[in-house]
Parts: sequence; structure tokens; C-alpha cells
Amino acid sequence: MKKITSVCPYCGAGCKLKLVVEKNKIIRAEAADGVTNQNELCLKGYYGWDFLNDTKLLTPRLTQPMIRYEKGGKLQPVSWDEAISYTAKRLKAIKEQHGPRSIMTTGSSRGTGNETNYVMQKFARGVLHTNNVDCCARVCHGPSVAGLQVTLGNGAMSNSIGDIEHSKCLLVFGYNCADSHPIVARRVIKAKENGAKIIVCDPRRIETARIADQHLQLKNGCNMALVNAFGYVLLEENLYDKEYVAKYTDGLDAYREVVKGYAPEDVEHLTGVPAHMVRQAMRTFAAAPSATIMWGMGVTQFGQAVDVVKGLSSLALLTGNLGRENVGVGPVRGQNNVQGACDMGVLPNQFPGYQDVVDPEVRAKFAKAWGINVDDMDDKVGVRITEVPHMAIEGEMKAYYIMGEDPLQTEADLGLVRKGFEALDFVVVQDIFMTKTAEVADVILPATSWGEHGGVFTCADRGFQRFEKAIDAKYNVKRDWEIISLLATEMGYPMHYDNNQQIWDELRELCPLFYGVTYEKMGEMGHVQWPCPTLDHSGTPYLYKDSKFDTPNGKGQLFAAEWRAPAEVPDADYPLVLCTVREVGHYSCRSMTGNCAALQTLADEPGFVQINPTDAELLNIKDKQLVWVSSRRGKVISRAEVNERINLGSVYMTYQWWIGACNELTQDNLDPISKTPETKYCAVNISQI
Ligand code: SF4
Repeated sequence: MKKITSVCPYCGAGCKLKLVVEKNKIIRAEAADGVTNQNELCLKGYYGWDFLNDTKLLTPRLTQPMIRYEKGGKLQPVSWDEAISYTAKRLKAIKEQHGPRSIMTTGSSRGTGNETNYVMQKFARGVLHTNNVDCCARVCHGPSVAGLQVTLGNGAMSNSIGDIEHSKCLLVFGYNCADSHPIVARRVIKAKENGAKIIVCDPRRIETARIADQHLQLKNGCNMALVNAFGYVLLEENLYDKEYVAKYTDGLDAYREVVKGYAPEDVEHLTGVPAHMVRQAMRTFAAAPSATIMWGMGVTQFGQAVDVVKGLSSLALLTGNLGRENVGVGPVRGQNNVQGACDMGVLPNQFPGYQDVVDPEVRAKFAKAWGINVDDMDDKVGVRITEVPHMAIEGEMKAYYIMGEDPLQTEADLGLVRKGFEALDFVVVQDIFMTKTAEVADVILPATSWGEHGGVFTCADRGFQRFEKAIDAKYNVKRDWEIISLLATEMGYPMHYDNNQQIWDELRELCPLFYGVTYEKMGEMGHVQWPCPTLDHSGTPYLYKDSKFDTPNGKGQLFAAEWRAPAEVPDADYPLVLCTVREVGHYSCRSMTGNCAALQTLADEPGFVQINPTDAELLNIKDKQLVWVSSRRGKVISRAEVNERINLGSVYMTYQWWIGACNELTQDNLDPISKTPETKYCAVNISQI
């Protein structure tokens, strides 16, 4: 029996665990003393390894390469040589006929690790010659990255997960940490025990609201109006830190000009939050010696998400809550390695280490290191994954190489996404399970899973952590980066790596932010936070020391925008607002956790539609009754959960099931900057079956 150190693959909390292994089987998981989890795990950490033992899997594991030679034909098992040669030939032909930008690629924010994401974006940029590479950050915290890069200079959490429990005020906005990051939720409870004031802004009475000093139960879709009202109170009541604002920020006059129209009393009808509560919240927030703002998808999955992120960071700037311990802004990243996928340049606008693709010097540096002609590199920002369905339908996108993502379940407006996939000439899926997207692929490239390989993940607080291989893969599968390297070589760009560390050292050399994060240092320290620019640097627990921001002029940028209504509001036909949410026992599209017995038992039936008792009574719907939920785009069956924690006029569905998939109903109104869809708001109806 041996114990292998790993990092949980199920959320950005980055909890360390030990996988106990006997005869190439996982026996159990034990909590380890990680910086972020300190010997604690949630249910997913304890029971999320079961699928590795291959016991009665509900979703089949991909066990060998397969090709569908003709549209409408069957997937046929083939050798690796044939799969690589066929894929390379098809991609080359499409590139030659339609150009590099007709091919889309994705990295993965899940269990594959940073090294693979680096290799995937190198394949896109260095072999296909396109910046069309993206990841699921686009549909979650893309707005946090875009917003914070403008206001503060970096798109990540400013401080550490450990800081949360020492902060004296937590403003938790659109973030259900109990379901999303249970171990982070424990930090929130510890903060409360340490005397912190907790302010929750959420339309639902979520778990955290139960321990909150104030719960501002705003109406869905009004985030910008409430954030502006907060700003109004800080200025009007002189609660802001004038000295800090004068010294370290820009843009106060323009900010004041916008928020002056958002007196809490004037927007009460819009936000649904009583004015005195808005005022009290800001008095508490501004009076705290240290305050932290945390947010989740309740902020980012809206058509005006980037503006709201900028508005939230402005609250931190106005009160001087940046540049020191136990304060800051915390967009708590969802998937376990979504921070890492962004760090590694699986973004259409940035190389690894957040270096801009439109900067000629940066392109020249990467071209030289990769041994390619700089003139072959794409000098424009690439396509985002949410733009692919539209472009495919228009005939502008021809091929899609998808690694570790399941857009046919997790993207908004699945009817539209399906049409986009039908219009594509060639779809390659590299994954571990026969997901909904793998089912329509022309080529399946089966990969090893977390547990069957090692590597480096980045957790939500910028911390790089190594995870080790626990068992040998049982099937005819390969490591993700090995598959990509074989494809690159077959397409005429020789690519070979012997191990993860070779890749890691190559990317370190190219990324000043990460240069000092060696494998040895991660081994010794366990968790090294970027920036870590030199070999003797021990990492950065909090950004913007002494309030020096990474913006062009070194100052924090204050920002407010007029509130815009969501794209589709309720009417007589579709009188309710649908908001998608997460289920605590499952992860993403559920392919991994849905194949773990204990987690399956916890939630063994396609999700629910949560509805307020008053709305349920009006519609004559009983608790646990099967109902139709319909929108202008589709109709699904779900089971009603009549729940008094739900606000009037809104219903909530989990996105983790393909039966009763809520994304059949959602709409893809995209934020104009980040191109993130408004999955938190569309109009629906509920009717009896
Ligand atoms: Fe920790 Fe998140 Fe894994 Fe739970 S799911 S054990 S909170 S990393």
C-alpha cells in the first residue's frame, strides 16, 4: 500500500489529499495538510476518485482511439498511428484550404494540468498558426480577468485563500461558496468566528446568508445598480478613504458622475434592496479595518459582467482594501485548474504568463524559443469558444479540436451549439469519457485521467501545486501533451518531451511571472504563488504591495457604468427568471463525479428546479412533482423543489445533468468584452406534465 500526494481535481480551492493505492487500485482518499485546506476535504475530495477503478461507470471511459470516417457513420476503433495520421491530414487540409483561423482549439481547466495547457496553446500558435485557443474561463470567470486587468492590472485573486478567515469584513457577492468551494466556505465560517462581519448579496437565501450579519436579497439581474448604489453611499456619506484614493487611484470624477444617479432610495424599486440596508452594508464595509470582496458566477455570468467586476474592484479601491494582507478582491475560480489554464495562455489574447499576442516583441520571443518564423504567427486576437457556434453556422469555422471540455452540455443555448457542431467539417475530442461532445466527434483521442498522470495545477489564489501520478492507466490511452506532440510532429513540427518537468522548465523561461517557480521549489514549499520572478523569490501571497498597481500608470482605475437590463426579461408567456446554479456533490458536466458511487448516491437523479412556495402555489405545482420548464429555445423535464429560500419570481436549476439540461433553455447574450454568456438570466415558464 502506498500514499500518493495529489491535489483535488474538483474546484479552485486546490485542496491537497493523499490517494491510498493498493495493487494499482485507489482504496481511499485522505485529507493532507495543504496550504488552502489544512487537513480538511469536502465530499468530492473524499469520494471523487472512484471512477479511476472503473467500477460500473455510467458514462463509458474512452479506452482506445476512434475515427468516424464519414458524417453519419459509426465511430470505429483504430490504432494510435492511424488516429494521429488521419487527424493531422484533415487539420492540414482544412488549414490549407480555409486558413489557420478556421480551426478552433481548447485547453482544459480540469485534471490535465498546466504543462498540457502550455503544449496545447503552443500547438495552436506554433503549428496551426492561430490564436484560436480558449478554455472554459470564457463561460465562468472571463469577466473577472478582463475587468481586473483593467482596474488593477492582474485578473486573479489579489490575496490568498488563507487571508479570508483573518479579514474583518467579507462582502460575498453572487457567490454560493458552500456549494461551489466548500473548503473556502469553512474559511468564511472561521472569519465569522474570528469576529468578521459578513455581508451577503444574493437573490437566494444561500447557506452563507444564514451566518451573515446582513443579507441583501437583490433582484436577479440588478448587480450593476446595487454596486453603483454602494459607491454612491461611500461617496455621499464620506465613508471612502480620501487619502488613499487621491494617492493610488485614477478616475474619481468620472466615477462620481455615474454613481450619483444611484442613490439607494432611488434604485430600491430596481434592486429590491431597502435603502437603509444598502447604507448599513457600506457603513460596515468601510468601517472594517480589513475587508475582502468575494464573488462567483452570480457576478460573471451576465451580459454586463465585466462592468460589475470593475465596479466591485472600485469598492475595494475606494476603501483602501488592497495591497496588504487580509483584504482584496477574490474572484474565486470554479474549476480546479481554470486559473492555470489562463496562466498557461489558453486564451485567445495572451501567451502564457499574460503576455499579449498583439505585442510584436512578445511574438518574436515565443517564435524564437519555439523555432518558428515569426511571420507565420497570428498577430490578431483569436476566437472565443462562445463565438464558435455562430462562426460555424456562418461557414467561417471549419474544425474544432476540443480537449477536456464538453460544450454540448455546458454552453448556453444548446440548440444553437448543436447547430454549430453540425455545421463543422471536422471535430476532434480528446477526453477521458464519452461525453455529449465526444458522441458527435469525428476523431476520439483517449487520454489519461487525473490520478493516472502528474503535473502542476494552479489553485484560485495563484498558487502552483504539484500533483503526482497514483496508478497506471488500464487502457490504450496517452497523456494529453504526448498526443498533442505526436500530432504536431505529424504535421511537420517536431515536438517531443520526455516528462512534465521539461515542459515546465520551457514555459518558466518564457514567463517572467513564473520564472522562479521551479519543480524543486514547489516540492519544498508545496504551494508557490505567482508572481515569482527569480529563483530566490518565495512567491507572492498578496498582489499590489504598497498599492502599486500593475496598470499602465501604476494606479488603480475607478470605474462605474450605467446599469443595463438583461437581454431577455420575463413576460406573460415566460413569466419567471431562470438562473443556473451548481450542485455541491457534482463537478462541471458530472462525467467524473457522476461515475463515483458515493457522489452518485448523493444526487442520483437529474437535477431540480427550485421554486418559491408562493410561485408554486400560483402555478399549482407541488414539491417533488415532475414539471416542464420551457423557454423560447427549448423545453426540459425537471422535478420541482419548492423551497422558501428561493426569491419570488425566479427559479433555479443545476447545469450538471444532460437529462433535463438547463442549457437547453439558457440564452447566449454575451458580455461585449469577455464574450461570456448570460446564463444566470433568461425568461422561462413552468407547467404541469
Ligand atoms: Fe477542496 Fe474543492 Fe476538492 Fe472540495 S472540491 S475537496 S473544496 S478542492
